[in-house]
Amino acid sequence: MVQLYLGEVKKNVGSTFKDVLRDSPGELRWEGEKILFAQPITVEVRLTNCGSEILVEGTLITVLVLDCSRCLEPFLYPMNVDFKLELRNVDRLNRPSDLEAEAEETDEIKYFCEHDNYVDITKDLEELILINLPMKPLCRPECLGICPVCGANRNEVQCGCEVGEVDPRLAVLKTWKSL
Ligand SMILES: [Zn+2]
Ligand SMILES: [Zn+2]
Repeated sequence: MVQLYLGEVKKNVGSTFKDVLRDSPGELRWEGEKILFAQPITVEVRLTNCGSEILVEGTLITVLVLDCSRCLEPFLYPMNVDFKLELRNVDRLNRPSDLEAEAEETDEIKYFCEHDNYVDITKDLEELILINLPMKPLCRPECLGICPVCGANRNEVQCGCEVGEVDPRLAVLKTWKSL
């Protein structure tokens, strides 16, 4: 769980507060897959009191365990992403009826009450990690992947199958011929 401490920054308009937070999430679930963490999450934040809102500028640093989309082996994926959040003080907003409309515009806005000393951003960080996942994770750019003929991991073994530049679908035809 990651909670931003507002107690200090909310005292004076114009003041800033820096903090480093850590969390050790067990795993994240995404489209039925489990994403493991090889390292705790570190979140560096700078809070600025802008009056009715507090601006949060942060950096999330962690190392994930992802499965390579070519060779299917797990590998370490370092992540270092910047983010911004806007924390609005509900008790200082003049027109509470605007609240929902504005919240729908962007999910990067959160609300807190005058008496709150902490705001939980665990869910926001999880979303940040998910939207920053690579579409096709690769253990390394030159990963050779799996042999379409024998299924060996070609990064580890030279199976010697005659694949050449042949399309994997044509490779199937080849095996029929040799029967
Ligand atoms: Zn790979
Ligand atoms: Zn092979």
